[in-house]
Amino acid sequence: MNSRAVPDTTGIAALVTTNPLLPGDESIFEVHPNEPDFPYLNIRTIHISRESDRFNPSTNLIGMIIYGYRGATDFYLNNRNCKIGHILIKRSDEMNHIQADTTHKKLFKWFFGQDLPPEFIAGGFAYQNGQWKYNALVFNTKQDIYHNNKKGMSLTEKQLLGGALSRLYINHRWQQDPNISVREIFSSNEGWQLFESVNTVVNPNRVDKVNKYGRAATIGVTGKYYCGDYLDVIRCSCCDGRCGPGNGCNCSGCMELDIENRRLPKGTLVNRDGAPASRSRIDGQTFYCGRPVLRRTNSCDGYCGPNNGPQCYACQALNEQTPRYKTLLNEYDYT
Ligand SMILES: [Zn+2]
Ligand SMILES: [Zn+2]
Ligand SMILES: [Zn+2]
Repeated sequence: MNSRAVPDTTGIAALVTTNPLLPGDESIFEVHPNEPDFPYLNIRTIHISRESDRFNPSTNLIGMIIYGYRGATDFYLNNRNCKIGHILIKRSDEMNHIQADTTHKKLFKWFFGQDLPPEFIAGGFAYQNGQWKYNALVFNTKQDIYHNNKKGMSLTEKQLLGGALSRLYINHRWQQDPNISVREIFSSNEGWQLFESVNTVVNPNRVDKVNKYGRAATIGVTGKYYCGDYLDVIRCSCCDGRCGPGNGCNCSGCMELDIENRRLPKGTLVNRDGAPASRSRIDGQTFYCGRPVLRRTNSCDGYCGPNNGPQCYACQALNEQTPRYKTLLNEYDYT
């Protein structure tokens, strides 16, 4: 660990990170300084502080991901030991009584028992009214050489933080094991879209469930759940990249709600028309819904499957999207 102190400087530099989609070591997330004398800050593990509050979709939250203090990635601050990659998430309403001018400074003070020093390097995020938001500026000061003056978040930061939140925090897994490796996060694209959310108009009377990404989901004209968020893992050739909002394909979080809601057996998904479909018993691969929606020909009886022959277009889409729903097919607990 590099414990070099970062001296005062007014230089404001860019936060640059390696892109895990390019060849390279996917087990490390690097926070680069923009000036040559400053250390790289490397994250290998994300850890959710046990003092965090549990996720509840109707409660606003405030959070920070710690990168370092005075250039050190393992440090003591006011007798609190912290390491790079530690995440703290608290209910916003419980920070109200703390004296500081922003909610993130209140969060810092709640945890460390002192005001925010300029040498502290962290990213700030929040969950407000069902929407995840990131703001690199909240802990930024003019002395912080690791962040630039843009509020935005790089793709890899979205993958890192979105992946950690959806795979460790929102599902409450952190309460059993508070750690997840950067390698595991970057082994799938799950959660990258958490901070890409668009404000979708949702009729509150029709909000039935909250999916694993913490997004409110409603039932569309197909009878499937949709959250209006970005489709995860892969883009499909049939849609505009969004989960619904009224029809079409859904994200894996909403597909999970479809399966739960309909109490479907293991291996069954709901295609983009809203019909349950499962894989052929003959080849174990091809999805069929069994509906009479195809044209009858010499070689086709007009039914999609159920075990061989041509598929309807909605079941073809399921085969194309297997990477998105892989976790549901392999690991879903259908009890
Ligand atoms: Zn969705
Ligand atoms: Zn689609
Ligand atoms: Zn079909």
